[in-house]
Amino acid sequence: MESVLKFSDLGLAEPIVRAVETAGYETPTPIQAQAIPLVITGGDLLGVAQTGTGKTAAFALPILHRLLQASRAPQGRGDRRKIRVLVLSPTRELAVQIGESFATYGDGTGLRQLVVFGGVSQYHQVKSLRAGVDILVATPGRLIDLREQGFIDLSHVEVLVLDEADRMLDMGFLPAVRRIVADVPTKRQTLFFSATMPKEVATLADSMLCHPQRVEVTPVATTAERVQQSVYFVEKPNKVRLLRHLLRQEGVTRTLVFTKTKHGADKVVRMLEDSNFSAAAIHANRSQSQRQRALTNFKTGRTSVLVATDIAARGIDVDGITHVINYDLPMEIDNYVHRIGRTARAGASGIAISFCSPEERGLLTSIERLIRLQLEQRHDLPAFASEPPRQVHTTGHADDRRAKRGNDSLPQTDAVVKPRRTFSDTAPPTTHSARRPNNAPRRPATPNGEFSGPPGRGPKRPRRFGKPNRFASSGR
Ligand code: AMP
Repeated sequence: MESVLKFSDLGLAEPIVRAVETAGYETPTPIQAQAIPLVITGGDLLGVAQTGTGKTAAFALPILHRLLQASRAPQGRGDRRKIRVLVLSPTRELAVQIGESFATYGDGTGLRQLVVFGGVSQYHQVKSLRAGVDILVATPGRLIDLREQGFIDLSHVEVLVLDEADRMLDMGFLPAVRRIVADVPTKRQTLFFSATMPKEVATLADSMLCHPQRVEVTPVATTAERVQQSVYFVEKPNKVRLLRHLLRQEGVTRTLVFTKTKHGADKVVRMLEDSNFSAAAIHANRSQSQRQRALTNFKTGRTSVLVATDIAARGIDVDGITHVINYDLPMEIDNYVHRIGRTARAGASGIAISFCSPEERGLLTSIERLIRLQLEQRHDLPAFASEPPRQVHTTGHADDRRAKRGNDSLPQTDAVVKPRRTFSDTAPPTTHSARRPNNAPRRPATPNGEFSGPPGRGPKRPRRFGKPNRFASSGR
């Protein structure tokens, strides 16, 4: 009988296996199972994988392992740590995530890491660099800035990681990447990750890698591809009426609706019940028995609509869900894939419909980037939903009042109408290429030419994990 592969089977040092277990991972993902043994041997790697496959751990774990094994450390007092690992990320959000992964997996190793990105003061970054770091995660613009000011020395880099190379190129970072690569010793290990391999990316990979092993994993979008996905552009106050309209359509028999908040889920249930739909909510504020009852009723068909928040999304494994409706788009875009996967269980296909209000346009763009598909835009809006809302109440009380009055069906037409000029006509065009929405509107660049994401955390100071200088304590 085939035994299940464990992290301890991959040759990783004991503190790393322990950290992974503490993180709650039981088995390696396919990219981890393939990449970790290869990276441990010191060879170059070409990884074709996207976010959600576990690719960060696929490079972070063996890198930490190699740093622990190398006898360069510990360094004495006054002997400043040298940057031995450089990870390049196209965006600050990804850089922060990678830094957090190194922090989690490196707990107990005594190694220090730092994340640097543009759009924030460099003061703390410089201070931390002066103290010395082993692992540097950086966006290209800020890295070059700091390097030019003499705060960064790349001459001791042993491992170079380029993450999301295709996105890096999309964002115009190719010249910056080339400059950085030229500063890193040629004798090094290079790990190159990209979700796709168009020609320019393959050319860059060729120029950076030496006899690489290639690992490729099925992207997260596979689930997404089995689901028929579409989007309605609809003003927020019209969402509930559009929902009722869709629920009345033929073939819509078991529907899972996702809202952003618990309060929102309860409110949608109330409004549906007012219109005689059998609906229930499932979210973190419900007791275990309430949740169980809601799920059982949904499974047996007693309730035809289950309204959930993302917290509850992953636990819902119900066969025969005909439709997933994203009443609100998920704030964490990875959840989009988890949500729509509820309607394509065990290889079945399904239908996922998203409602996108003007405030959610940015989220939609990010989702389309993630799944590398452009959602089909639905123009069969019922008349009421294509009208500008008569009242825009941020609290949505107008909906409540209308529901109480029972006049949700006005006007009574479900006819397919040509949409009037709504916000979706005036929003920036989302002109995507057939395969990938590369040329979707980008967020403005900072003066460093870097991606300016939402204000996240400030720059990270280097973290010391566990007791210092326990490099050789692998027990192997
Ligand atoms: P990534 O593709 O690196 O962005 O990882 C996606 C998510 O998967 C992250 O939230 C990780 O914490 C999680 N993850 C990575 N490896 C594993 C694993 N072996 N088991 C469970 N979760 C994992």
